[in-house]
Amino acid sequence: MPVFCNSCGTESREGDSFCAKCGSSLVAMSRVMSESIARRTNGFAIAALVLGLVGMSPLAIIFGVLSLKQIGQDPNLDGRGMAIAGLVLGILGTIGLFLWGSVIGLAVCSMPLGV
Ligand SMILES: [Zn+2]
Repeated sequence: MPVFCNSCGTESREGDSFCAKCGSSLVAMSRVMSESIARRTNGFAIAALVLGLVGMSPLAIIFGVLSLKQIGQDPNLDGRGMAIAGLVLGILGTIGLFLWGSVIGLAVCSMPLGV
């Protein structure tokens, strides 16, 4: 991840403590930014969205509900949109699984066996 100077916007190498152009401190700023990003997005929300996208529907519902519960308790947490998206994908996927299952079930039952 490239580090940009907070004062002049010059890109610096990762690991540099001070801007090569103006000498401003880079470390404090980038650390605060990454910490706030990591703290703000709820892990369960990311998991719910990813599981929903890959078709792990029942797990996506579980993680989506857990995430919304945590976000509801902590207003600093982000990821509500991701949690809802994961939950919706999970519900749609589960309905799809049931429909697909009944289609296969009907096909098997109506198969002319022993003819
Ligand atoms: Zn600078």
